[in-house]
Amino acid sequence: MRVEAPPVLPGCDGEATGSGLNGQVPQSELCDLWDGHPPIRADAAVAFARMNEAYSARFGESICITDGYRSYAQQVAAKAAKPTLTATPGRSNHGWGLAVDICADGYAGERWDWLKAHGPEYGWDNPEWAREGGSGPYEPWHWEFTAAVAQIDDH
Ligand SMILES: [Zn+2]
Repeated sequence: MRVEAPPVLPGCDGEATGSGLNGQVPQSELCDLWDGHPPIRADAAVAFARMNEAYSARFGESICITDGYRSYAQQVAAKAAKPTLTATPGRSNHGWGLAVDICADGYAGERWDWLKAHGPEYGWDNPEWAREGGSGPYEPWHWEFTAAVAQIDDH
């Protein structure tokens, strides 16, 4: 009898078609992460959950995140609250469900070192523009599912 490994993210098949518009991604494309956290696109969510398994084994707790997918209306509200640190509505990778913001204790010390070292193995990284000396605002908390973001940037 074959025993199947438990899914890394129960209820999420990891399949995303890329349908929808920025800030208008259909629910069917999104998956919830662990308790109470905002959903992100299914493929990004499964990769993030795999990274979280390794992170949890190392630190004894899940990656703490504050933000995931933002609808267009939520991006408008975020822009109003933090105008200099928030992308124009329709332009944010949060609107594609391909970005998360990490809690403050996750982008310092050994947690930061771990994420920087291992995130890219799972397709997740703090993008170049968000780094110190990068081309955009310095946002160490902002992480993206880079391969999928690159596909969007191409068109
Ligand atoms: Zn962000």
